[in-house]
Amino acid sequence: MASMMQPQIILLKEGTDTSQGKAQLLSNINAVTAVGDVVRTTLGPRGMDKLIHDDKGSVTISNDGATIMKLLDIVHPAAKILVDIAKSQDSEVGDGTTTVVLLAAEFLKEAKPFVEDGVHSQNLIRSYRTASTLAIEKVKELAVSIEGKSVEEKKGLLAKCAATTLSSKLIGGEKEFFATMVVDAVMAIGDDDRLNLIGIKKVPGGNMRDSFLVDGVAFKKTFSYAGFEQQPKKFDNPKILLLNIELELKSEKENAEIRLSDPSQYQSIVDAEWNIIYDKLDKCVESGAKVVLSRLAIGDLATQYFADRDIFCAGRVAEEDLNRVAAAAGGTIQTSVNNIIPEVLGTCEIFEEKQVGGERFNIFCGCPSGRTATIVLRGGADQFIEEAERSLHDAIMIVRRAVKNSTVVPGGGAIDMEISKYLRQHSRTIAGKSQLFINSYAKALEVIPRQLCDNAGFDATDVLNKLRQKHAMQSGEGASYGVDINTGGIADSFANFVWEPAVVKINAINAATEAACLILSVDETVKNPKSESAQGDAAAGAMGRGRGGGGRGRGMRRR
Ligand code: ADP
Ligand code: MG
Repeated sequence: MASMMQPQIILLKEGTDTSQGKAQLLSNINAVTAVGDVVRTTLGPRGMDKLIHDDKGSVTISNDGATIMKLLDIVHPAAKILVDIAKSQDSEVGDGTTTVVLLAAEFLKEAKPFVEDGVHSQNLIRSYRTASTLAIEKVKELAVSIEGKSVEEKKGLLAKCAATTLSSKLIGGEKEFFATMVVDAVMAIGDDDRLNLIGIKKVPGGNMRDSFLVDGVAFKKTFSYAGFEQQPKKFDNPKILLLNIELELKSEKENAEIRLSDPSQYQSIVDAEWNIIYDKLDKCVESGAKVVLSRLAIGDLATQYFADRDIFCAGRVAEEDLNRVAAAAGGTIQTSVNNIIPEVLGTCEIFEEKQVGGERFNIFCGCPSGRTATIVLRGGADQFIEEAERSLHDAIMIVRRAVKNSTVVPGGGAIDMEISKYLRQHSRTIAGKSQLFINSYAKALEVIPRQLCDNAGFDATDVLNKLRQKHAMQSGEGASYGVDINTGGIADSFANFVWEPAVVKINAINAATEAACLILSVDETVKNPKSESAQGDAAAGAMGRGRGGGGRGRGMRRR
């Protein structure tokens, strides 16, 4: 009451919107929970997809947490944090994006009653951090290594991980088919870190099963000029020349001006141009290359010239594709045709131009350095192929992670139940309020199996009870039991090969806890009135008629 008597202190500009304290914290928690509810239903093999159409009218159908979060266009400042963790999970490990959002939302939901009761959020944060450290240690302890297996065995195990990732996707029906393909692709590139060495080419039409893997590079035939038909379309062990120059007869540049006094001189200028291009073409031919690729245009003159000499050429090849050919075939991209030494030419076992559906593809197989692979995806609708590509991306990332870290944990909520049990047990050894908080954290982890059940239409309470009972077994033999998505009961996820790389879980727990703690540590939101119309103001201010522009001007220093 006393404070009301005092004169009001104006600290922030008029129009600033602030809200603080418990109410603000609760409102943030509610916002985050709301976001969690949006992605909730997409989790797991029986998860639903979301159809999102933006203001430009493009339609995306996706099951991928990161994609959905990105497209949602969330404006709530606290809820935006969830978008960030989904994105970071996507780039760090590539899968588990729905999981991370769901966990963060659930941690906060569990914290809500405590906040309402006036618990200081720092206490919650401290306990959550402890719980997260314990949980991650436990995951590491439970993880099973796939190191020291033969290549064939390892491939089989990796395919299981890929299949688990794919089972929740639109292409889940063909998960074995695609899992093997993904593993072969990842194995082909070895331990090179560059993800773009695996190309995914989408060709609408046909059946999913018509998709295939090229152990090398494939790209859509580029635009070509007349004369192209006469070029050979298949070579064994050709030399490949990669260029970054134009092989086109140059017409006069717009800003070139030449003054001629004698009309006959005109011919010499035209001739000079022809000589330049013929000289370039001769040098390409002399290099012995049978396939000439350029990032820039190869014109009709060059096309015909190459055709006459049984050389295949393609201009305007996308930079990405050209780089992949260079990496695979072992050549170097040239910026000049002078001095083409044999070392800069690449090669491959078979080069071929092939019809795939309605498209023609240039395919380079059996490349010497072999460090690339291309997946040619087929399927009905555009949206379908787009989603298939995103799904394959997840699977590729997962297999790469598994190759690197080579430890896996049982999925289907098994690992989550086990950590939850462990934390509950641990909390009993703690005295004080912290016991409750860690217990809540443990309860929050159960959201994964519960949601898997809900999404599949199972009785979640029933399944969770069974799971709790299994995991509570002293012998520890129930530790890998998770939701059986096929029967609605429980099953040993490990035996059923529902595997996930351990880093997916570790990263998800870590990121979700951090996000939850971050939101819990916010007790005030200040909305600067300027930030809302920053653009409009800046424009108006520049013209000197901005609202309050004079006021701001006074404060500004002039130099
Ligand atoms: P995220 O974006 O988090 O990867 P997903 O929709 O891919 O979400 O679902 C992943 C969850 O589904 C994981 O918890 C995983 O263990 C579970 N899961 C995947 N395949 C199966 C399966 N065959 N049986 C039970 N659970 C599965
Ligand atoms: Mg997934």
